[in-house]
Amino acid sequence: MNKMSHVLIVGGTHGNELTGAYLTQKFQQSPHLLENRSFQVQTLLGNPKAFAKGVRYIDQDLNRSFDRPCLQNADHSNYESQRAREISQSFEANFDASTTVIIDIHSTTANMGLTLILNNHDAFNLQLAAYLSSEIPSLKVYSSEHSGRNRDSLRSLSKFGLAIEIGSLAQGTLNAELFQNTENLVYKILNYLEEYNRGSLKIHKGELKIYQYLESIDYPRDEAGNIQAMIHPQLQSRDYEALHPGDPMFLTFDYASIMYTGESVVYPVFINEAAYYEKGIAMCLTKINIESGL
Ligand SMILES: [Zn+2]
Repeated sequence: MNKMSHVLIVGGTHGNELTGAYLTQKFQQSPHLLENRSFQVQTLLGNPKAFAKGVRYIDQDLNRSFDRPCLQNADHSNYESQRAREISQSFEANFDASTTVIIDIHSTTANMGLTLILNNHDAFNLQLAAYLSSEIPSLKVYSSEHSGRNRDSLRSLSKFGLAIEIGSLAQGTLNAELFQNTENLVYKILNYLEEYNRGSLKIHKGELKIYQYLESIDYPRDEAGNIQAMIHPQLQSRDYEALHPGDPMFLTFDYASIMYTGESVVYPVFINEAAYYEKGIAMCLTKINIESGL
């Protein structure tokens, strides 16, 4: 396969996720941190208007605005539609999508620790994820292949589009330890790409555990759409832990438990993500996939 020519590091795709926004700013102010590599590294503040206002977005979620038909439809003219078009046109003009890695840095109010998100199970992405997992044992690898993000997210501009999620972190806040963990992960990715380009990579042999998106679960709601229950205390902050059929999932305002009625064990993530209330998502269910023989 071709060598990687470019890396695009994006922060602030969601304007109130400060880790990526300030890390991008740090890289812009200290470019030597990213220099002397066999590929070019560029940085981008995804949604500057939303960042300036301290909100997730102005008109619509930028990270759902990269659907190809929407990008080509000039009738879609609100701020994020225009911004997505601008980013995508500039990406096409300046980067080769087949040799560019995108690292889009996000944060979550869910207790997901340090998570690497893959849009697909391309062999290159799996090898990279396996390497990072061996370097950072606490790292979780989540596949959004079936969630729609491989079509409409900013990172979907490249086949090698990755996202970092770090949490739990309240919207509009920073946490020094999580900031450092995120920066460290970015360097590990760059180091891997350097080794890859030099051909000096040791192929990772072994297994990679991937949490693969299955479906999203909404809160129980009444006919008017009002939420009828909260995340159950026994599930709160238990991202990536097994949820068995019959385990409590929600608690009503009268403190009645609502159980998980699925038939198989699942591993919820994005539990109680603040930005997902408006999307009708209380959590995303995943299953574990073991990729072997990498
Ligand atoms: Zn985000």
